[in-house]
Amino acid sequence: MEIYLDANATTPVLPQAREAALAAMAEDFGNPSSVHSTGLKARALMDGVRARARRVLGAGQGRLLFLSGATEGIQTAVLSALSALREAEARPDLLLYGATEHKAVPEAIKHWNALLGLNLTVLAIPVGCDGRHDLAWLRAHAPRAGLVCTMAANNETGVISDLDGIAAALAGSPARWMVDGVQALGKLPLKLEERRIDYAPFSGHKLYAPKGIGLLYVREGAPFTPLLAGGGQEGAWRSGTENMSGIAALGAVLAALEAGGTFCDAATLQVHRDRLAAALQSAFPGLLFNAPPELCLPTTLNFAVPGLSSKLLLDLFDAAELRVSGGSACSASKAQPSYVLEAMGLPAWQTAASVRLSFGPVVDRRFIDEACARIRVCGESLRQSCLDPSTPGQAAPADGLTRFMVDGACCYLLADAGSRRALLVDPLPALTDRLAQWLRCQGYALAAVLDTHSHGDHASSAADLWQAISQEPGDVDALGWPRDADRLSLGGRWLTRLAVPGHTHDSTAYLLHDARGLQWAFVGDTVMPGALGRSDFEQSAPLAYAGSLLALRAAVGEQTLLLPGHDYDDRFASTLAVECEAQPLLADVLTGRIDAAGFAAAKAALEQDLALTAYQTVACGARVDAGCALAASEISLAEVQALLARHPDLLLVDVREPYEQRLGQAPQLGGRVRRQAVALSGLPEALAQWRSLPPGAPIVCFCRSGNRSAQAARALRRLGHVQAWSLRGGLALLPRAAGADAALAI
Ligand code: PLP
Repeated sequence: MEIYLDANATTPVLPQAREAALAAMAEDFGNPSSVHSTGLKARALMDGVRARARRVLGAGQGRLLFLSGATEGIQTAVLSALSALREAEARPDLLLYGATEHKAVPEAIKHWNALLGLNLTVLAIPVGCDGRHDLAWLRAHAPRAGLVCTMAANNETGVISDLDGIAAALAGSPARWMVDGVQALGKLPLKLEERRIDYAPFSGHKLYAPKGIGLLYVREGAPFTPLLAGGGQEGAWRSGTENMSGIAALGAVLAALEAGGTFCDAATLQVHRDRLAAALQSAFPGLLFNAPPELCLPTTLNFAVPGLSSKLLLDLFDAAELRVSGGSACSASKAQPSYVLEAMGLPAWQTAASVRLSFGPVVDRRFIDEACARIRVCGESLRQSCLDPSTPGQAAPADGLTRFMVDGACCYLLADAGSRRALLVDPLPALTDRLAQWLRCQGYALAAVLDTHSHGDHASSAADLWQAISQEPGDVDALGWPRDADRLSLGGRWLTRLAVPGHTHDSTAYLLHDARGLQWAFVGDTVMPGALGRSDFEQSAPLAYAGSLLALRAAVGEQTLLLPGHDYDDRFASTLAVECEAQPLLADVLTGRIDAAGFAAAKAALEQDLALTAYQTVACGARVDAGCALAASEISLAEVQALLARHPDLLLVDVREPYEQRLGQAPQLGGRVRRQAVALSGLPEALAQWRSLPPGAPIVCFCRSGNRSAQAARALRRLGHVQAWSLRGGLALLPRAAGADAALAI
């Protein structure tokens, strides 16, 4: 069962609202402007809903318009207030909006300010660290303001505005006042008429009505300019045939609000929220709430956990079928810091790592119990993965190769469960705390911390890492290699090294062998998938580059998996054979068509002309991937089933992270299917294993949304495994009901 905790983004439609909408579509389907009986019935319905809304909102003599939602209501209100300002004789010079307002508000103000040619100064009203408006600032600016917009409650944090304080700060101001009531509907008494609010927009879908229906309150006597002109509906204030099914559904929600019994009261909601808050705190010790709960809607919690990104938390919650959001829904896909939290002055990590959990007032104890239980399971799963920075875990000992990424740079961790030791290649400063936490949690000692070269963009963080785990590196050279050793052993695997100067004087490849032979080479920036590392740094050795490539081929051949220091487009690994296909310059060196000096000159010419990123993707002649061939690696569930029928040796791979896999959402697969769990971070290890599969054996990857599995399938295809596929849309799009479980039970 899905636990939906994203009610501030939208809510499901109440059963009685669904029924009312259906009836308005099927039976009472009239146009309220028609004068025959069918039309009159529709008008009566609409009038009834408007009267209800008037009572629920305390709208008094004000006008209530039905429109498509809050964004339209906001436009209409802003257009109305600004059109009136254009006509005013003494024109105030400021337009003010709360710094944490929904984007619809500042964008509408800027849009109409420019379009109407007013060009007034638009200013954000600052908020304090509690998210509430700075009333002294507002009082100081109010006399010069023509419009002031302040939301009743914030969609991200739930912070409730001090509307009475704002009203007092606006006393004597000529400004019109818009209050965005979207998140307050059904949760706070707004008393629109009692307060001096001029405009208040609402959206039905935030309170169990469908999307596409909203309300705008306009105070009696407040200026008004229609946004839509036409057939004269809504007294010519909003033309266009009314959305009758939406109005009927909204009416059913308002009726439920008035009658009581369906929606929880504030005290009950607070008990529910406190229980969720306690579950979060016990699951994620160290968690911080981003706004004081006592100032917030009793249905919203916004928090951050030190050391855990919001992406990680969202994936984790989603795997437990808990739907929450990162920051606000609109910005969730961009993974940008929350401007709301920034306005509150929270530290950068907190603004970028925020998660919002919100529920609607139609919840019951069982729902909250289940949500709390799943939150605790999420915390448990993190501890088992050594990802909870605050508590030691009970993780199974890690083994094998794991890749960490920071902004395109790669760091590799090689772990050996037998000896409980690990070594690192190319540690990254941003990972020091996380790696140290991981080592402590696993109880592993560090065998070595190696750099493939002295990095141009950062100093090695090897020393910091040794210090963070209170271990000594021993007698090692500048790149971390033990001075007296020609090989470095870890369990049944060992590393040798090979000087490959070019990118830098000290560039070194580390060759990783196991009982099967040479499997991987950590090549740093010497060969990057799709490009060769630059050779125009101060510490480069351009003339040595070509010789290094030849030496590398002599040592590793054309098929060894090369693990790069950077991977800008999720290729994970490459081989010299693949790179020769992609990079003419590399092929020229290896076939002897070009000598060391010619190679250095050709490379220098490219590097002079091109910016780094362009260089990485284009300059070395990297062949642009056959995009459509790679895109075609995504297939539907039905296609997976057809593939399985033809290839019983199909391997189905779950590429989600272990902390997600552990949460049980993994599909129950039929006994006939071979299955494997390989998180993307473990792909470099698995790629070597999969090379022993027959090239015709299909590998089908899946994940939550289809993104990570598509990356894995593309990486495999680039390495020549033509039968690599990913499940389009991931688990998220599998049919529910019978459950994701049944859907993949093939
Ligand atoms: N205002 C607030 C506070 C909101 O939360 C939203 C929706 O997220 C809106 C305005 C815009 O509402 P709609 O997208 O329904 O027009």
